[in-house]
Amino acid sequence: MRKLKVKMVCSHCRGENIKVNAYVAWSKSAQAWEVLSTYDDEAWCDDCEGEALFEFMPIGRAAK
Ligand SMILES: [Zn+2]
Repeated sequence: MRKLKVKMVCSHCRGENIKVNAYVAWSKSAQAWEVLSTYDDEAWCDDCEGEALFEFMPIGRAAK
């Protein structure tokens, strides 16, 4: 069973341009930054240009 995909939306403006801080470390084997943990209580919304709360929204449901 496939996991339901979700997206993040700003709880204020419903925009999807949500950013959160993350703690990353360089992985030599993957040759990429590896996210160790995310700080999703410190979200930022590009649309509101400020700190924001976000909500998970399922993707694939009929959108208005
Ligand atoms: Zn917003």
